[in-house]
Amino acid sequence: MTALPALGPRLVVATHNSGKLREFRELLAPFPLELTSAGELGLPEPDETGTTYAENAQIKAQSAAKASGLPALADDSGLCVHALWGAPGLFSARWAGPSKDFAVAMRRVEEDLGARGATAREDRRAAFVAALCLAWPTGERLDVEGHVAGGIVWPPRGDLGFGYDPIFLPDGLDRTFGEIGSDEKHGVVWNSDGRATGLSHRARAFGKLVAALYPGGPPK
Ligand code: IMP
Repeated sequence: MTALPALGPRLVVATHNSGKLREFRELLAPFPLELTSAGELGLPEPDETGTTYAENAQIKAQSAAKASGLPALADDSGLCVHALWGAPGLFSARWAGPSKDFAVAMRRVEEDLGARGATAREDRRAAFVAALCLAWPTGERLDVEGHVAGGIVWPPRGDLGFGYDPIFLPDGLDRTFGEIGSDEKHGVVWNSDGRATGLSHRARAFGKLVAALYPGGPPK
């Protein structure tokens, strides 16, 4: 792997969503980075025309890096239900419609599973996936992906999360993502060897990104 350019101090988070910016601020708090967002800089929002999460993250990061002249970090994520051939997948946000009603989106998952006779636990396997792309204006790029495996439950349980959280039961836990707090879900755990990991797809992707950027752990 060729060496990546130095990072910082300024980094653009390639999002126009203030919730996402807040989450990145929390994740990146231990690092000597000044964050700004594509929204705050008034950068255009590119069309997400990729056919994978990684491609969509690349489109957003490269567009922001090029327009700002600064390194830019973007993510793309979704829920893949195996019996539905990976749906809703890249269309996870769109299944909620213009009013962003995830009760509707979750019911559609359940109805589609029902239409396939997927009532047994082993037929209801799913995964959340998150891709992160860090792009430099000079063209270099770092791509990572995080996954968390689990199953779809019905009815929805818990109101602590967002999106499809109430129907996703991660392997090894007896609570859905809707029943666990954001710290436990997205929190990054630093192992004694300086590596970062976590429970959620996003935390796991972030752990890989940080391991590639700071092999010795967060700078003191
Ligand atoms: P995007 O990454 O902003 O394109 O959003 C993808 C969509 O995937 C979100 O709107 C949610 O519907 C869904 N999604 C991604 N991550 C999660 C998660 O951690 N919990 C629940 N839903 C999620």
